[in-house]
Amino acid sequence: MADKIISVRNLVKNYGNFEAVKGISFDVYENEIFGLLGPNGAGKSTTLEIIETLRSKTSGEILVAGYDLDKDPIVIKGLIGVQLQTSGYYPGLNLLQLIDLFAGLYNEEVDGMALLRSVNLEEKAKSQYKELSGGQKQRFSVATTLINKPKVIFLDEPTTGLDPQARRNLWELIKNINDQGATIIITTHYMDEAEYLCDRIAIIDSGKIVAMDTPDNLIDELVASGFERPREVKQANLEDVFIHLTGKSLRED
Ligand code: ADP
Ligand code: MG
Repeated sequence: MADKIISVRNLVKNYGNFEAVKGISFDVYENEIFGLLGPNGAGKSTTLEIIETLRSKTSGEILVAGYDLDKDPIVIKGLIGVQLQTSGYYPGLNLLQLIDLFAGLYNEEVDGMALLRSVNLEEKAKSQYKELSGGQKQRFSVATTLINKPKVIFLDEPTTGLDPQARRNLWELIKNINDQGATIIITTHYMDEAEYLCDRIAIIDSGKIVAMDTPDNLIDELVASGFERPREVKQANLEDVFIHLTGKSLRED
């Protein structure tokens, strides 16, 4: 097995009297796509934001690339890619200018056009964020995670609200980024997406991890326990119909 790049031990987060994260532990290995799944309010975003150094924890230990979050948060910040808030703040700037602005914040030299090309937004370089479609906004948000050439990238529900074409397009982008060596931690409510993208997943419910394994093993385990789904007789589903009728290409304009 590859080296651990993230190690979380007994992480607890209380908001006042409310225990949002109840002592969870997990490891993420180098170059994995690791999925954090769970119902709304389970504690996924809280957990991610703590590892991202954006939120304080109540207790527990976290290591990122061997660095202790309590001792070296600034080093960790430099190693990770976080989706930056782009809407609202700088309505007058175009995509290229936003990337320059963020690059400045990271103290990085970035070829903005090359970065936009990598997420298929070259033609929108001079457009403002608010002029983008939903899929384009999400791709731009993924691009902002890449500015500091991170080892680990955090994506919190990156495909929520996208149409089937844009969702599949973003899957390929995420796979590409992973193929180039980045470790990815992603949350999603789409189980097909988790099955397609994730090497391993943790299912979190009410602040506790209730299962953690590869998608395949989790499914096999359920089947071995005697679970049976009513037999599906159809060779396609409604999403297949939708994609068949409307094509795989992106419709964004
Ligand atoms: P998820 O991302 O899995 O939907 P969150 O981590 O956003 O869940 O939230 C976990 C729980 O913590 C929820 O019950 C939420 O209402 C609560 N929570 C999140 N942020 C805060 C906050 N800043 N103050 C108080 N409670 C919060
Ligand atoms: Mg969330």
